[in-house]
Amino acid sequence: MGRQRSKAIPARQIAYDSTLIPEAVNYKHLGIIQSISGKYPYDIDTVKQTIRGTFLSLSQKVSGRSGANPNTAIKLYKTAVIPKALFGCELWNSISIADMQQLEVAHHFCLKRAQGLPHLTRSDMVLGLAGMTSIEALIDLQKLAFLGSLCHAPTGEPCHTLFILRLCQFDLCENRKIGFIPDIVKILQKYNLEDYLTTFKTNSLFPSKEKWKSVCKKAVGQHETSHWRTRLEQHKDFSLFKEVHKSLEPATTWRVAKIRPDSLSLMKFLSRLCCKKPPEQPVLCSKCTHQHMHIEVVHALFECPFTDSPARLQTFIETVRPLSAPLHEHLKNVEPATLVLYLMGMIDDVIADLMPIALYPEFLINCANFLQSVLSG
Ligand SMILES: [Zn+2]
Repeated sequence: MGRQRSKAIPARQIAYDSTLIPEAVNYKHLGIIQSISGKYPYDIDTVKQTIRGTFLSLSQKVSGRSGANPNTAIKLYKTAVIPKALFGCELWNSISIADMQQLEVAHHFCLKRAQGLPHLTRSDMVLGLAGMTSIEALIDLQKLAFLGSLCHAPTGEPCHTLFILRLCQFDLCENRKIGFIPDIVKILQKYNLEDYLTTFKTNSLFPSKEKWKSVCKKAVGQHETSHWRTRLEQHKDFSLFKEVHKSLEPATTWRVAKIRPDSLSLMKFLSRLCCKKPPEQPVLCSKCTHQHMHIEVVHALFECPFTDSPARLQTFIETVRPLSAPLHEHLKNVEPATLVLYLMGMIDDVIADLMPIALYPEFLINCANFLQSVLSG
């Protein structure tokens, strides 16, 4: 448990017939550790170890020569690691901020490894590229689904009766703030879903399982995306990233790598590039010896007089002509700042209009090859 209880538990002796039944602080029932306090019926260290350990052992098994494919690794994480680590999390009550933070760290660790991103990559970039929410949101979703099951349980089932009893207790007793009901009430408020419980209490009506699932998924997704976007706006580390990657959905690079597995190493290169932070101090270019405040590739492309980037750029833009003549025209006149974003995988309305979707992977692979040649030359 890792936590010392300050209050001594009063000594009681429970006997069955004449045999004394030993009492324990924790016990395991159906694979879930329960605690007598009801406050921490889980062991945070075990959950953390399960997340990291299961992910590492599974990802080793799917690693190829250039590491695991991020699409495969993320899918394994979502479908095998998370369900195992969060088994029974519906009953974890009053998780402290510090404990939740530890779970988020393990969550980010796995997603960073899954995508082959450098150690110091910002967590919001890691989540963004993977298109994943926080682990807290995953736990909330499971608790919300559990609420749905309890509301739908047949009348007369012990779990339904107990649930109704606890609901009444909660409404009557303001002081009782530990347990599933206080937790789920907070979660419903967080996602503006409390009206559903009010309706259930008033007239026993609750959305069907499918409807409830989609309502929760939408509410949690919107809440997570808006908080993620706000965090990206708050720090200049994200100034480039937030333009390339605008929504909490799997990155364009990973979607291209899924369609064209041969492009995996190029797509990893592009993903790492868009996670680069703009320098805080002026950077000295080893070629022209000028100081600049851009990420390396921007300086090499548009500023450095000691590269043949302008000629390379012309050659690259010609590769776009056979894919889309209108986009080719557009790229010839576009601002350098926008061109860099296109090269890194930003899709805006112009790209969506001018480039046929089936040809986009070829375009992005050309972009990655071009940027790689600029950096190596
Ligand atoms: Zn230079």
